[in-house]
Amino acid sequence: MKKENIAIIGTGYVGLVTGVCFSQAGHNVTCIDKDQAKINKLKKGIVPIYEPGLDEMVKKNFKEKRLFFSTRLEKAVANAKVVFVAVGTPSSRRGDGYADLSYVYEVAKEIAPLINNYKVIVNKSTVPVGTADEVKRIILEKNPKAVFDMASNPEFLKEGAAIEDFMKPDRIVVGASTNKAHKLLKDIYEPIISEAKKELKDKAAFFTTDIKSAELIKYASNSFLAVKISFINEISNLCEQLKANIDDVAKGMGLDKRIAPYFLKPGPGYGGSCFPKDVSALLRIAQENETALRILESVVEVNIAQKARMIKKIKTGAKVNRKAKTFLFLGLTFKPETDDMRDSSAITIIPALIEKGHKVIAHDPKGIKEAKKILPKETIFIDKEEEIYSASKKAQAVVLLTEWDLY
Ligand code: NAD
Repeated sequence: MKKENIAIIGTGYVGLVTGVCFSQAGHNVTCIDKDQAKINKLKKGIVPIYEPGLDEMVKKNFKEKRLFFSTRLEKAVANAKVVFVAVGTPSSRRGDGYADLSYVYEVAKEIAPLINNYKVIVNKSTVPVGTADEVKRIILEKNPKAVFDMASNPEFLKEGAAIEDFMKPDRIVVGASTNKAHKLLKDIYEPIISEAKKELKDKAAFFTTDIKSAELIKYASNSFLAVKISFINEISNLCEQLKANIDDVAKGMGLDKRIAPYFLKPGPGYGGSCFPKDVSALLRIAQENETALRILESVVEVNIAQKARMIKKIKTGAKVNRKAKTFLFLGLTFKPETDDMRDSSAITIIPALIEKGHKVIAHDPKGIKEAKKILPKETIFIDKEEEIYSASKKAQAVVLLTEWDLY
């Protein structure tokens, strides 16, 4: 295996996991972030997010001097053969559903003067089709002599199982316009591909394509999963009316290999840092390109309705009439095994109850710190596991919102 120097710009859930896993695979990796506090913590071996297995791997690779952290781009980018961009691409603040690409373009401007020899600049952030072209244009505008290839390498990890997903991926998708870039990316992934293949023979397909197709694969994949979730939520609502058993219906469906059992669990609607924004962004891409994505339009409506349905259900279950009630919420993060609160259903449901004068006591094994920043100040947080039972005695209803094993 050839060791490469890799720079990762953006040290969040994706950037940090990518950096740690490449260093574990033997490469020299520098993770860069403009958030000084985050980098200071990482340099002290404190991992700023919760992700199973991440802590030990960060400490190990940092100690063995394959993994470095910095707020400065200069040295890391100049020395790197491959530069990954893994900054956030949230929904635009205008609320129109477009992806906000300002962080990606800012990075393009910052790295342009640092491209001193051939490099591959890789978008790992989830970005609309055409973003790589725009990044290339920005770089060349700032540094016409820069020699580089653009590539798109979307990330498919799931928070809560991010290390496992990165080290044993179902597939690695790489879009590039030259064989040289495809080969370089294949080479840096080689230790991961061969390790994964030992255990899971048919796994870890390295799939190469053009840049635009790679960019679209990510949005199309997340949107398809959102379709599956909304579909099973509606079937679940129908089961309630018919007094059929949704768990059995989902299991019976999932036994069909063409359908598969994944993402067939009914719940309060999808949330998290990716699905809502990615579905919206794909709808905008389609709209701009005058192509209807009618199924996806319905998915958004179904998801909003599902959250409203949950609020109604919780109120009905707790026999809310005019009297204010106390609710105990177990689980606040958008799914178990993460501290990520972005677009969690707790953010819709808890304020709706507090607004009507109800009391909410809330617990989460890892998400309390983030939840305190986001949920209404009237929310009563309990930090200790031992307090759950006494809190449940004060409550008229217990809402199990996130299926942490603890509960
Ligand atoms: P995040 O918000 O956790 O991390 C982004 C980081 O980038 C932040 O730490 C921020 O400070 C840093 N940053 C922003 N501008 C910077 C700059 N100019 N220089 C250096 N650092 C900068 O985001 P995330 O969840 O890791 O997501 C990153 C991308 O990956 C997004 O496009 C997202 O859609 C995609 N993605 C996320 C997941 C997931 O599960 N979180 C999975 C697959 C893909």
